[in-house]
Amino acid sequence: MKKFILLFILIFNFNYLIATGVYKAREIDIPGSGLKNIFPAMDFLTASNRKGLGDKVKLFDDGTLNAEGKNVVVIGGGDTAMDCVRTAVRQKAKSVKCLYRRDKANMPGSAREVGNAEEEGVDFVWLTSPKSFIGDKKVNEVEVSKMKLGEPDASGRRRPIPVVDGEFKIKADLVIKSLGFDPENIPKLFNSEDLAVSKWGTIKINLKTMQTNIEGVFAAGDIVRGASLVVWAIRDGRDAAEQMDKYISSRRKNNKKEFAA
Ligand SMILES: Cc1cc2nc3c(=O)[nH]c(=O)nc-3n(C[C@H](O)[C@H](O)[C@H](O)COP(=O)(O)OP(=O)(O)OC[C@H]3O[C@@H](n4cnc5c(N)ncnc54)[C@H](O)[C@@H]3O)c2cc1C
Repeated sequence: MKKFILLFILIFNFNYLIATGVYKAREIDIPGSGLKNIFPAMDFLTASNRKGLGDKVKLFDDGTLNAEGKNVVVIGGGDTAMDCVRTAVRQKAKSVKCLYRRDKANMPGSAREVGNAEEEGVDFVWLTSPKSFIGDKKVNEVEVSKMKLGEPDASGRRRPIPVVDGEFKIKADLVIKSLGFDPENIPKLFNSEDLAVSKWGTIKINLKTMQTNIEGVFAAGDIVRGASLVVWAIRDGRDAAEQMDKYISSRRKNNKKEFAA
């Protein structure tokens, strides 16, 4: 009987890799956040991609998620924000402004993409942070605070602080929020409360074996690093494949030995 169980384990040797990325959009909690025509970046980008692939996309077709002819304001300075501003340009927006709370030198997105976006007519409004959204049902304007860079914070980057009486308003028919992504609650989502996560919700792994605290469960990519870059995800994927191969091979060897005994 023991031999049959071992044979079963040998054949159906389940191992898992968690590589779900990070997709929980960071929110912005300021007055007017509930007004219409304020959307998370992924809603805007997926609508545009699906339309490009020939799908029927109700919110694009009725104009809600279509930037054509609109004054578009994108909030954020990462790669996703760059995708949003350049998509809005391609959709023939009337104007595209990108609000970023630090300056150009401290922007997280690729400098080349910022340059490309500027060439395409995107107006970067450096050192600004939204203070409120103004409108009657739909957003009409964004009130922004002018910022300046203060002392470095825990991450070593200079913290943006509001300039006194530095508020001004920017016209907006469509606001796209692109403030970054956090991990979903993976232990809850996968009904595996034992899975160890960091205080940020990223999955903890043994960096050498790529294994989580649960035997046979591996993790890689953004869900381990936090929002990162494609190159790192590719590297992590390769490392995880190698480590999983090692793990499975050594399990097989041990099982064979036990089966033969
Ligand atoms: C809009 C946007 C623009 C970006 N631009 C750049 C850029 O210009 N340059 C760059 O280097 N990086 C960019 N990045 C970051 C880059 O995409 C990520 O770092 C990289 O894709 C992470 O790879 P990953 O394999 O960890 O996760 P992902 O590529 O995010 O893949 C995760 C996969 O898991 C799936 N998934 C999630 N949850 C579940 C679940 N519960 N069950 C089953 N499947 C699930 C998702 O649908 C997805 O297919 C961008 C990211 C975004 C969102």
